Amino acid sequence: MIIAIEGCAHGELDQIYRSVENLSRQRNVKVDLLICCGDFQAVRNESDLQCMAVPDKFRHICTFYRYYIGEVKAPILTLFIGGNHEASNYLQELAYGGWVAPNIYYLGYAGVVKFGGIRIAGISGIFKGHDYLKGHFEKPPYTSGTMRSAYHVRSLEVFRLKQIKEGIDIFISHDWPRGIYNYADTRELLHWKPFFRDEIANNILGSQAGESLLHELKPKHWFAAHLHCRFAATVQHNETQSTNFLALDKCLPRRQYLELIEVPHDSNQSLELCYDPHWLAILRSTNHLLSVRPTTQYMPSGGPGSTERWEFHPSQEEIEEIKTIFNDDYKIPLNFVQTAEPFKPRPNYNRNARQAEAQLNPQTTEFCEKLGIDDPLEKLIGKPIILSAPVVNPDEIALEEDDDEEEQLGDQSEEPASHENNDVFFVDTKPQKRSKMSLPQPQNETLDEEPLLKEKEEVAETTNLDKSSSMMVNLWNAVNELQDWKSGKGIILHSVGETFCSGGDLNTVRQISNPDEGYKMSTLMHNTLTRLHQLPLISVALIQGKALGGGAELATACDFRLFTEKGEIGFVQGRMGVVTGWGGGTRLVQLLGQHRALELLLTSRQIAAPEAVALGLANGITKSSELTEAVEEAKQWLQPKLCHAPQIVHALKHIVATARAVPYEESLLNERQVFAMLWGGDANKKALEQNIKHK
Ligand SMILES: [Zn+2]
Ligand SMILES: [Zn+2]
Repeated sequence: MIIAIEGCAHGELDQIYRSVENLSRQRNVKVDLLICCGDFQAVRNESDLQCMAVPDKFRHICTFYRYYIGEVKAPILTLFIGGNHEASNYLQELAYGGWVAPNIYYLGYAGVVKFGGIRIAGISGIFKGHDYLKGHFEKPPYTSGTMRSAYHVRSLEVFRLKQIKEGIDIFISHDWPRGIYNYADTRELLHWKPFFRDEIANNILGSQAGESLLHELKPKHWFAAHLHCRFAATVQHNETQSTNFLALDKCLPRRQYLELIEVPHDSNQSLELCYDPHWLAILRSTNHLLSVRPTTQYMPSGGPGSTERWEFHPSQEEIEEIKTIFNDDYKIPLNFVQTAEPFKPRPNYNRNARQAEAQLNPQTTEFCEKLGIDDPLEKLIGKPIILSAPVVNPDEIALEEDDDEEEQLGDQSEEPASHENNDVFFVDTKPQKRSKMSLPQPQNETLDEEPLLKEKEEVAETTNLDKSSSMMVNLWNAVNELQDWKSGKGIILHSVGETFCSGGDLNTVRQISNPDEGYKMSTLMHNTLTRLHQLPLISVALIQGKALGGGAELATACDFRLFTEKGEIGFVQGRMGVVTGWGGGTRLVQLLGQHRALELLLTSRQIAAPEAVALGLANGITKSSELTEAVEEAKQWLQPKLCHAPQIVHALKHIVATARAVPYEESLLNERQVFAMLWGGDANKKALEQNIKHK
């Protein structure tokens, strides 16, 4: 059978199904099952949206509700686990798994199912040591704390999964098992995610729970997401057992978020989702271990003198009991029901809705009654099933944007003291995440008066770089925002004053002048400028004054450079007793070739506009040296290059950006994938139709 694996979904169901369709058409295969590795965002309405632990401005209703109300049906049977971006209130209704919409099945806190005889296990959420030993005590409406801890992995689920001793074909987790990077070459990974370097070096990247499950269960495949990049590794457990690990990106046009795998299966088995009798037996025999209290609870370990049962691998007898209960028919019933009023599309939906109340789900009630186990949510809120529509209170104050401390992967409860240090760089690429940099805070109080980003029409966006003391922080934030600017096509970077940019502010530089801080600063700027360089937008640096040191490096991170007559560029780092620290050396070699790059770096000489053009470092000189006019000229220059639809501009930029960053074969593969994504897409169809009309 063919299974499509998708990384983070982030509510983009329409796009995911389209991509699966494109890919299956391209490969000429039929996809039997889609697996999504979390951040699914099964948001039914505005109240669900308030239960999702993301900053307010990222609460988007997305497309799931259309599947929930049956306006569209998932074209492929879809199986998913939860991540850290979820309507946790909805997922909590289905602790042991269930249908969140027709043809879309959630695996529960943890679960094992069978599909065509293939055994698929998984665990939802992300690992945080400080919540690991607690019960499932959270219930909506959440506090900002419980909204996060609700999706933290618990030891009960890990303990249950470890009772499965044999034959897992596929395992799904949201975060990566810790240490997985030790099983593959990490150069590529670190190229895209340089800020993982320290975590990898200290072996603290990823889930400890996942790591122990990987080595205990030894599944044939393991799929994960969360870190928003593709990474593959093979873990050879022993002579006969190995795990193929694959992490995928989130669903965005230019990312590697989808792959098809072929899994051999018994063709006598029907392709329907079924319960796994072993798992059912384990749920039954470990029901007494379920806690809904926030206190620490240890799983039985069979220590000396203990009389408590600690081994729950099902006995033949226990399996027989399950057989009787289920009449030997394990097909998961198609018993989806709506338990909340669905979203009604309107342009200005209520962003300050009240959080949903806890709600029992008849699917779980039925399952628990049948198996004789407890629904954790019912243990918390008591019985009667109240099917109530969400209450909307427009006066409700929106949840405060919570800090990201929960999200920091370096956050290990065992070492609270080191928390500060681990938070230096962010480790997830979700745009709402902000770095907790150890760099001095921006000192310029006037920051708010002049926003870094000036929103213009969709053609060009102007970024000012005048506040040098906060420049690094602002640039980081600006790039984050630009990464999400889907309708945009181009940006122009220019200064407000006389100097384009002279690199790091000297006050800042003095405060951090030791190798450690230098390395951190350099890593931060490498990351920022690499992402700027790789943005889907077409970038132009307008150099109307001096671009020296870091400023020169910044200029190399744009696709094009325009100079005014007063523009000057100089790689003066050598004169300051250092070398290029923001990746400008590498990019200069790419731009000019090694001989010219070396000459400029070695001499530190400052080059005026005409020579920059002659060298190929500048793409043109503006007529005017006056800022407003020069910016206008730069726009005129850029405009004709942005004539295609945003998605085409983004895709073309992606091809070029990839070509300059990865080896030839890989770039060709990427180009094929980008092409396939657009082939037969809306823009393509429209163009074809127009052509036919004009004939
Ligand atoms: Zn994600
Ligand atoms: Zn995530």
